[in-house]
Amino acid sequence: MESCTPFALTRERLSLGELTLFDVIAGSLARIRARDDLNAFVTVFEEEALRAARGIDEKIRSGRAGPLAGMIVGVKDNICVCGHRTTCASRMLENYVPPYHATAVERLIAADAIIIGKTNLDEFAMGSSSERSIFGPVLHPRDPARVPGGSSGGSAVAVATGMVHAALGSDTGGSIRQPAAFCGVTGLKPTYGRVSRYGLVAFAPSCDQIGPLAGNVEDVARVLRVISGRDARDATSADVPVPDFTLSPPGDAKNLRVGIPKEYFPASLDAEIAEAVLNGVELLAEAGASVHDVSLPHAEYAVPAYYCISMADTSSNLARFDGVEYGFRRPAETYQEMVTRSRTDGFGEEVKRRIMIGTHILSRGADRDYYLKARQVRRLVARDFEEAFEKVDVIITPTTPTTAFKRGECSKDPVAMFLADVFTVGGNLAGIPAISIPCGVDARGLPIGLQLYARAFDEATLLKAAGFLERSLG
Ligand code: GLN
Repeated sequence: MESCTPFALTRERLSLGELTLFDVIAGSLARIRARDDLNAFVTVFEEEALRAARGIDEKIRSGRAGPLAGMIVGVKDNICVCGHRTTCASRMLENYVPPYHATAVERLIAADAIIIGKTNLDEFAMGSSSERSIFGPVLHPRDPARVPGGSSGGSAVAVATGMVHAALGSDTGGSIRQPAAFCGVTGLKPTYGRVSRYGLVAFAPSCDQIGPLAGNVEDVARVLRVISGRDARDATSADVPVPDFTLSPPGDAKNLRVGIPKEYFPASLDAEIAEAVLNGVELLAEAGASVHDVSLPHAEYAVPAYYCISMADTSSNLARFDGVEYGFRRPAETYQEMVTRSRTDGFGEEVKRRIMIGTHILSRGADRDYYLKARQVRRLVARDFEEAFEKVDVIITPTTPTTAFKRGECSKDPVAMFLADVFTVGGNLAGIPAISIPCGVDARGLPIGLQLYARAFDEATLLKAAGFLERSLG
């Protein structure tokens, strides 16, 4: 497929010998330094990246290079890169250095991508603004008074400012798609099980997925292709064939059936967002796609169900941080006191709030009222999508109810922050793939994201429709 993404152009110039990978990395490092104020990176691997470049340059010249040779990638700092600290932006893991790579990282390196460093996030990926990090907030590249979204805010900013060609994020309730929407880049949450989570620090394992962010659909597809597939080290990774997403022909929209769920376009929806997203739908219709009304009747229960389930997951998973095996420890007279003090001082406020609520949700009596109910709702939400996908191939919604909000606006009100995820959490509950692509800007010039959902393991259709829309939107 002919291609002119920044990565494809770099790759071509590398093979023609017009550029060396050393130059590409130097350019990336210069951009990271020039926008240090945005706080997108927690750690930068300057020397290691330059060292890795030599071997890859050689491979490109001799035609033996992997599919991602020439690509500069940032990795969210809750995904392990061997020998470099993986902090989760938490005091708890501030000095934790993993002795192994996450599988997704291992696969990127095997495909000859260059990992340039680790990107900033909300502590343990809990949040929608990237304000809750021990390294300080990530700033929106267009307006430093605003948030870039979260929790993969550093990854989205690194892509938006051209510091990297692509980045890895994690998405438990929207953390790839929402910052992608706020920063005007493309981000994809794969089907649950598509990408191994080995080496991703767990937040809510029944929802967590690793996925790519990039400046365009094609590069997202390239990265997804490399990181996907069964991994014996993650029992939840699925043994499903991985198609070559990058080869799906651009094609037309003739046979595409698009669903518009009324529950995701409430009367209260911001008018500029509704207009931009429906304009995208219009373009697909003009290109021959058929547009259908669909209903996802349990959508309004998705946010409370998501928070019940993810907090229950968290309270159980983060129990491992006891000051003994991992991370931060406060010495004390007794074991109990040591654990209490280590967790009290090692975790930030939001993480502790979720652990406490999650512990309550799982406690005897409350579990029936909250946890089991939330799991029933989860099934209903998933069934809504299954039924809709009997009629349509993709579902289109806004990615977020607002564009990038101001710093401090939601951080004092946890529930206001939760509502930033109203259009994205359904995909995590149902385990289906979803992508956010830019579809316009609001009156302030802030990007608006359009989200597409597809059936489980049908990333090929998702990418095809998204690629088509991207071209139509210009
Ligand atoms: N904003 C959501 C939360 O705080 C989702 C986070 C995520 O996807 N990691 O739970």
